[in-house]
Amino acid sequence: MKNEFIYDVPQSRVIFGAGSIQYLQREIDLLGAKKALVLCTPEQVELAEKISSILGENSVGVFAKAVMHVPVESAKEARDVAQKLGADCAIAVGGGSTTGLGKAIALEYDLPILAIPTTYAGSEMTPVYGITENGIKKTGKDPRVLPKTVIYDPELTLSLPLEMSITSGINAIAHAAEGLYAQNGNPIMSLLAEEGIRALAEGLKKLKNDSLDIEARSLCLYGAWLCGYVLGNVGMAIHHKLCHTLGGSFNLPHAPTHTVILPHAIAYNEESAPEAMNRIKRALGANDSTAANALFELIKTLEGPLSLKDLGLTESDLDKATEIALANPYWNPKPIEKNAIRTLLQNAYEGNPPN
Ligand code: NAD
Repeated sequence: MKNEFIYDVPQSRVIFGAGSIQYLQREIDLLGAKKALVLCTPEQVELAEKISSILGENSVGVFAKAVMHVPVESAKEARDVAQKLGADCAIAVGGGSTTGLGKAIALEYDLPILAIPTTYAGSEMTPVYGITENGIKKTGKDPRVLPKTVIYDPELTLSLPLEMSITSGINAIAHAAEGLYAQNGNPIMSLLAEEGIRALAEGLKKLKNDSLDIEARSLCLYGAWLCGYVLGNVGMAIHHKLCHTLGGSFNLPHAPTHTVILPHAIAYNEESAPEAMNRIKRALGANDSTAANALFELIKTLEGPLSLKDLGLTESDLDKATEIALANPYWNPKPIEKNAIRTLLQNAYEGNPPN
């Protein structure tokens, strides 16, 4: 365990439980809001309309134009709409893309965000925002974008297709796994990370049998909350760097890319972060395996994606991806070595077991 650390984390109010959307009006009142603007993607407009109708005159309407990576144009339009309608609160109902749009509004107008996550991405627990302009996603940290209130209602995740649930869940596990060896890690975050991985692994295996199992959905959402909290409070390393590179420069899908890369990134750090690896193995109930292999086996069992080739990357992109990932690396417990990263990407490309 680290003997020296700083624990200084901002908090959101969290309401958790199946059916907890029923407390929305109370939570809006506690924020002192009278005119909430409900944000969503075009695919989730029905849910957003329902949420807007719960609030009656305390809702100024639905803005259903959230899209992946928060293009600056949609951020500007959302801000204009919020200003025109005199919104005093943004309700983000959906995944990381919708929460991201709420953050883009909060950044400019200091509006409180109430997040209602319907995936396991974890953005609602972080002060990190991203806005894409001319194809380049700029990210930053600002305490104003951290949602003031988060309502986790597992019933709202029942509609998330199984395949997306699995990759989204592994995406969350990746936050916790890297949080376990973060340079600024601390024992409290490690406890939360281990518990988050455990809950998600158990929940995802149950979901595989029955995607409408509300107990499994609750376990997954609980795990996602903890993993998102870790992401928001400690630094990420090679795994996240590789995923940001593959998503940002090669347009690979966010959660499936995390799923393919995770076992390989963990294998890369296996010898440099033994305590983290022990925690991952314990969380997965896999003491006789390596942490990387245990994750690979979990993804195989869940029938998640295993190769970058299947996600649409071409082999000729691997050299370029290595260059980009190495140009501005994040801190990592093991020094970043070009040939080893190129080999890691080759293995991930082909869907080989990690080594
Ligand atoms: P997403 O928000 O892009 O959602 C993907 C699709 O799933 C959308 O069409 C959405 O409407 C739909 N969907 C969401 N929940 C659903 C449900 N319950 N039922 C049916 N359909 C549903 O996907 P995501 O993986 O949640 O978010 C990815 C984005 O979030 C990326 O851009 C990533 O960079 C960002 N992110 C940011 C942070 C941060 O801290 N800033 C953290 C994690 C992810």
